[in-house]
Amino acid sequence: MKPLRSIKFIITVFCFLYPSIALATINVVATTQDIASIVKEVGGPLVKVNVIAKGYQDPHVIEAKPSFMLKVNRADLLVYQGLELEVGWLPMLIQGGRNKNVLPGRSGHLDVSSVITPMEIPVGEVDRSMGDVHPLGNPHYHLDPGNGLLMADIISDRLTQLDPANASAYKTNLENFSKRLKDKIMAWKTRMEKFQGMKVITYHASWSYLLRFLSIESAGTIENRPGIPASGRHLSELATIMKQTNIKIILQANYFEKEYSNLLAGKTNGEVVVLPVSVGGVEDAGDYIALFDILINKLENTFSKI
Ligand SMILES: [Zn+2]
Repeated sequence: MKPLRSIKFIITVFCFLYPSIALATINVVATTQDIASIVKEVGGPLVKVNVIAKGYQDPHVIEAKPSFMLKVNRADLLVYQGLELEVGWLPMLIQGGRNKNVLPGRSGHLDVSSVITPMEIPVGEVDRSMGDVHPLGNPHYHLDPGNGLLMADIISDRLTQLDPANASAYKTNLENFSKRLKDKIMAWKTRMEKFQGMKVITYHASWSYLLRFLSIESAGTIENRPGIPASGRHLSELATIMKQTNIKIILQANYFEKEYSNLLAGKTNGEVVVLPVSVGGVEDAGDYIALFDILINKLENTFSKI
């Protein structure tokens, strides 16, 4: 075999045996599994994705480990949720990562919230010293699947910018994902239509985007303000609201302690419904669409019993 042909043959064998290694051209760090899932949908085998916050962890409070800094150091692209969701740890990872490609303003730095219209932007002064963790509005926007379409669009744009040679692959992947998600959105809406106008209490404001998508109303949160624990007086006020308006459901992310929710449920004969907030939050929530399948199944079952 001639030298050039033998090199080509070796590359072919390598690609055949290790397709993910051979094809991975963009090294991505995603702060959440939701973002990571959408990056994988759009990037396919052209991206290698590392995740910082696991779906079963509260993304507001993640330890800035040196191993995460190493991931940032090696990244071509850092993709994050923004609206200060990661403000407690991402600046430390960026600083410790010492990678100029992912600094703010560079093409390897992508704040996905730049294409989102935030809900619940605080009116008046925000006292961050008190622990208010949503100072720029609610950052849990991935829970409106319509926002998932916008997230996929901007991620596709940025992958294309970084890797224009594979533009057509990103475009095809984006179209396939968007089509599947749009079909699902219609199906989820149809299934949940009969519950429109119902009211729930939530623990943290994790569910605002999902409830808006389903036209279900949040009548209050157990936290006094995002990130600030409930006071006894606040719990009493919520109990009164629940009794007066016959609210039976308290929605709660699976990574928060349930003691306050259980206390309120006990006083009101209500039910605490624990749900995953993110991809990876439970074992079956393996990707972005699977997460919503689980959420819609659980909510449909819960509301059907009331
Ligand atoms: Zn939050």
